[in-house]
Amino acid sequence: MSSDSTSPATRFSSEIYASRLSRAARYAGDAGLDALLITPGPDLQYLLGSRASSFERLICLVVPADGSTPTVVVPRLELAALTDSAAGELGLHITDWVDGVSPYGLVASILPTGAATAVDDAMPALHFVPLAATVGKVPVLATDVLRKLRMLKDDAEIEALRRAGRAIDRVHERMSDFLRVGRTEAAVAADIGAAIVEEGHTAAAFIIVGSGPHGADPHHEVSDRVIEAGDVVVIDIGGPVAPGYNSDSTRTYVLGEPSPQVAEQYAVLERAQQAAVDAVKPGVTAESIDAAARDILTAEGLGEAFLHRTGHGIGLSVHEEPYIVAGNDIELAEGMAFSIEPGIYFRGRWGARIEDIVVVTAGGCESVNLRPHGLTVLPVG
Ligand code: ZN
Ligand code: ZN
Ligand code: ZN
Repeated sequence: MSSDSTSPATRFSSEIYASRLSRAARYAGDAGLDALLITPGPDLQYLLGSRASSFERLICLVVPADGSTPTVVVPRLELAALTDSAAGELGLHITDWVDGVSPYGLVASILPTGAATAVDDAMPALHFVPLAATVGKVPVLATDVLRKLRMLKDDAEIEALRRAGRAIDRVHERMSDFLRVGRTEAAVAADIGAAIVEEGHTAAAFIIVGSGPHGADPHHEVSDRVIEAGDVVVIDIGGPVAPGYNSDSTRTYVLGEPSPQVAEQYAVLERAQQAAVDAVKPGVTAESIDAAARDILTAEGLGEAFLHRTGHGIGLSVHEEPYIVAGNDIELAEGMAFSIEPGIYFRGRWGARIEDIVVVTAGGCESVNLRPHGLTVLPVG
């Protein structure tokens, strides 16, 4: 454990990837598949610790369902892209190829004739179409197989999510330095972006500064609107910390004292968010968590103002399974991590959202975000 390639800053220890690969193979076999075909993206990062990107030349991890040693098909000039991964320490087969050779034929040559395969959902069509034509049978998505692994975070992943949560909490803690009357949303966002990196993220993945009427648009990003006294401002921010796990936290601020109506409606939102957090435990459904928040808002006449689902899973991707939404009857289990982020939106006027990331524990859940939930009043002067 001495070289840079084993640094926990870029990936976990190789044993973790060995375990993930063997479970992925087993689940693939259970699903009646012969192999998983995984190109660069969150699934490859999950299975191998590789942060390689997809280009026009195919990089593909082939995981045979029979438990035999996986193979990485990789262009010779991209071999360096694997050096940060666990492929070397795990003794995976490396099949490198040079321009002029069909990498799809190389993948097919590893597989039995007419193999049943599954591909990652980030595979570009550029690779999927020729790969499907070459392996003979149209692949299915590996999502069903891999989500059983990726949804259940192990201790190292939960620790990474905690670090991410604390890092984004520290950015929210500094908000009074950034969010002031007379500044544009864009200027505020630029300062937040710098703080996200200063507080330990490798990058700022997204920054929403929704001031005044912009707060009523849940997917507003930033604009040149100037922050005014009295504005309610939704700040939704996050990014990855090494080795790639994301933060995502929303708090709502107000410049000066809120009106009685804003304070009253915000208090209902706070109650709804807490009710959803309190409802989380193993064995309950994802949709029941959505209902816990929605029922409170609906009972107070704010059901129509809550325009979106209550949350999404998080890990190597900012949005992944499980989705906390009506119709999703998946049962929560220890180790699942997801956001709880109800919001209320009043078109043309204002909006508010409260978002924490929680991890399901044996008896309930742990929030990785610890900042207070209340509407934070910032000074106008
Ligand atoms: Zn928008
Ligand atoms: Zn968010
Ligand atoms: Zn979110």
